[in-house]
Amino acid sequence: MKEALFYSKQENNKVRCELCPWYCELNLGQTGNCKVRINVGGELFTGVYNKVAALGTDPIEKKPLYHFHPGKNILSIGEVGCNLHCSFCQNHNISQCFASDFRGFKNVTSEQIVNEALKTYQNIGIAYTYNEPFTFYEFMLDTAKLAHIKGLKNVVVSNGYINTGPLEFALPFLDAFNIDLKAFTSHFYNKYTKGQLEPVLQTLKIIAESKTHLEITNLIIPGLNDDEKEFEIMVKWISFELGNQIPLHLSRYFPQHKLHLSPTPIEKLESLYEIAKKHLQHVYLGNVNDEKRSSTYCRECGEMLIKRNWFLTKIIQIDSNGNCDNCGISSKIVF
Ligand code: SF4
Repeated sequence: MKEALFYSKQENNKVRCELCPWYCELNLGQTGNCKVRINVGGELFTGVYNKVAALGTDPIEKKPLYHFHPGKNILSIGEVGCNLHCSFCQNHNISQCFASDFRGFKNVTSEQIVNEALKTYQNIGIAYTYNEPFTFYEFMLDTAKLAHIKGLKNVVVSNGYINTGPLEFALPFLDAFNIDLKAFTSHFYNKYTKGQLEPVLQTLKIIAESKTHLEITNLIIPGLNDDEKEFEIMVKWISFELGNQIPLHLSRYFPQHKLHLSPTPIEKLESLYEIAKKHLQHVYLGNVNDEKRSSTYCRECGEMLIKRNWFLTKIIQIDSNGNCDNCGISSKIVF
């Protein structure tokens, strides 16, 4: 185990973790709400340093990131634990598991991960994903620093539930984020994630201001967060506070974990897509077979720039400088 960052020692061997908005106060032997940070002898330790629960190579589109090195691969790692407890979590087997209970860890160092990334075909770097990466903050940070030295990119797929200080401390080592904005009401966050909305909005603002590449995913769950008026308020907030160029991925819900609703109707996704397109330049449907709404179009002339379906990506008309081949305007896609 490695001593954690961002905590303070309290009286009677208690510690207070300051990594995320829970601010867990832990007595000796207690583990935080994320299931991986533990008070040992009056100090806070991470139980997931130098370990991975999942490791694989994915298309970058699978994160999803559509405007960051399209068509490339990314070595992806995940561990166990999460500081939210979504009833619809797709990865609940690892996200809701205590580090002390998990039997499938592979012991691995940052150096080994970086070496693997350097050997991987068409690979741009490392994605910290599958569970909530900020719960393995220390290992992610050390790996990201080393990856940068070797010229690799670092991508974080996160719920955005982190405090400002730790986020800003890590930002110089991170290149791109996909942040899950699960809904736009406190009620939804309280009831279905056990967290709060406001810290996630704060995270989004900080990342957008930092100019680090940002994309957002919103999983559309029938009857829970698909109200069109509420959705439009969210999309307007993204446009006004973060910028109308931020790509938004609307993802189709399928029953998972504790939530057993019918999958999102395609017509509902299409309707929300049209609403979002009124306010944002780039909106995508995910978890559906829809080439039209998965492809990227020039914001100026409307020509298709990148054709996609599921994880098949074909760059059609973008020149070597990242400009539209038809009208010459910058696509603002990171290559
Ligand atoms: S990171 Fe974990 S231990 Fe720290 S405050 Fe958040 S939930 Fe609690």
